Amino acid sequence: MSRSFGIAAINGTSVRLHWTFLLFLGLIAASAFMSMGLSAARDIMLLIILMFACIVLHEFGHISVARKFGIETPEVVLLPIGGLAKLKRIPNEPEKELAIAIAGPVVNFVLFGLLVLLLGRWPNWQALSELAEGKINLIEQLAIFNLVVGVFNLLPAFPMDGGRILRALLAFALPHSKATSIATRIGQLLAVGLGLAALLMGNLLLAAIGVFIFLAATTEERIGRIRDAIGGLPVAQVMVTGHPLFSETDPISCALDEILHTDSDEFPVLTSGGELLGFLLRSDVIRHAGDAGAQKTAGEIMRTDIPVVPMHYRAEKAADLISGGAPIVGVTDRRGGFAGIVNWRNLLDAMEIDSAIARRSQQLDKRTSL
Ligand code: ZN
Repeated sequence: MSRSFGIAAINGTSVRLHWTFLLFLGLIAASAFMSMGLSAARDIMLLIILMFACIVLHEFGHISVARKFGIETPEVVLLPIGGLAKLKRIPNEPEKELAIAIAGPVVNFVLFGLLVLLLGRWPNWQALSELAEGKINLIEQLAIFNLVVGVFNLLPAFPMDGGRILRALLAFALPHSKATSIATRIGQLLAVGLGLAALLMGNLLLAAIGVFIFLAATTEERIGRIRDAIGGLPVAQVMVTGHPLFSETDPISCALDEILHTDSDEFPVLTSGGELLGFLLRSDVIRHAGDAGAQKTAGEIMRTDIPVVPMHYRAEKAADLISGGAPIVGVTDRRGGFAGIVNWRNLLDAMEIDSAIARRSQQLDKRTSL
């Protein structure tokens, strides 16, 4: 997730704020201050910060279970519409996916229970709508918020936890890809319904959430189809080769030339002995293009955090890394030298070629059965 700021690191997972989240906090603070004055604005900010603390706890519910299954969890990003825990991979085993997905909402239901105990009575549902008038009842409003978040996340739509729960339940009986495509269809339908209802109610935030869910469901389906297309192939068969090679001391102006005159957007940086040091990415090269006449060298701006897999590994490994947030995946040959790159574009190409072949063979089947 680009343009986010780390605010804390908990047990090796960094908690980051996306810039849109800071903008969102600023807008709320400004509008509360202008309509209700300083003390109401301060109380509302405190409530919102506590709400997001509950969301961080929700994400750490997922993270603690994922860790138990040995899955790395590098970061949590907070967006205005909630939190996203990044897992290095989503397990294929339905029981593991189910346990990870359900752990988040469980945290909110536990928090709801604790806050109700603290309140000493059942919350009054009006308390949340009184928020708009500047009336703050911290514990009561936080309790209701946790219940709403827990229930909302159980909606059976990606990337809501309910979407993953649904897919895991379907995957107990069906192949993983079939389970994904049914779960994404249901998610897309739900997102369209939510978006239309939100527009009718004039609730733009809810409409934005509808669009977000629709896009996320579509991405999830694509990842499922990519996994089908490359299933069982070695990564050597899906990687792109023939990239212009760079050494550490090359100025980035050379990379700018390559970006302009070739189709390559990623460039490996190698030692003179052919050993892989890192990668230059198009976005980084362009960002540095204005720096002192692009006199920086490849070694200064190359990325050394790009994951690398040996060429005999399964291609799904590369797809997992890319869907987990890696911009590209490097591929090395048997001696550890640079062999090629896997990126989103060529994974999508593999998917489209696979779909075209499947359509063609369906047509042939139809013809022979007529
Ligand atoms: Zn969740």
